[in-house]
Amino acid sequence: MKGHLFVMSAPSGAGKTTLCTSILKLMPDLEYSVSCTTRSPRQGEQDGVHYHFISREVFYDRMEQNDWVEWAEVYGNLYGTSAVFLKNALDAGKDVLLDIDVQGAKRIRARYPDATLIFIMPPSLEILRKRLVQRGCDSADSMANRLEAAQREMNKAVSYDVVIVNRDLNVAISGLNNTIKEIRNKSPEKSAGSAL
Ligand code: 5GP
Repeated sequence: MKGHLFVMSAPSGAGKTTLCTSILKLMPDLEYSVSCTTRSPRQGEQDGVHYHFISREVFYDRMEQNDWVEWAEVYGNLYGTSAVFLKNALDAGKDVLLDIDVQGAKRIRARYPDATLIFIMPPSLEILRKRLVQRGCDSADSMANRLEAAQREMNKAVSYDVVIVNRDLNVAISGLNNTIKEIRNKSPEKSAGSAL
């Protein structure tokens, strides 16, 4: 029996990281896929926990070795999901959660058609802008880029299986929890990963 694959995407500031952390606490048997990235760690981020932080050189080497099941450049940094990690986890019957951008989700869909794609939607662009201002870690330019990207990403939500609007964090966590639980209960035959 193969594991089921859950993919979460959201524009920057939509609260995806908090939702991911909360859901992993509620479902400790859900395996989180730790991505590799060439960006520098932010304060509080741990190598191997939040990301595997690697150099561009290593990233490109691994690309040549077909190590990435998907990869993308986001805000000037490279991000990739290990093909071996994903295949091993799914083959071992583990359900896996990926936190990746919309380009990566599209590639995962092509490779794993049974994956469940979940989009976390901010209530509005204006609320997203306010949240990014509150976060206080973006320059005006970077903020404008993120909002433009957010609009593009939100237009892609129609191709996701489930859209969760993060207006109230607790409601969103409960919606996400119910969605994942329902799909896990419904898929005893667990067929994700059949394309590899
Ligand atoms: P951040 O640098 O803010 O943690 O992440 C920036 C964006 O990169 C987020 O949208 C995040 O979901 C995405 N991301 C993180 N890991 C991966 C990955 O392995 N592949 C892809 N395609 N996107 C990723």
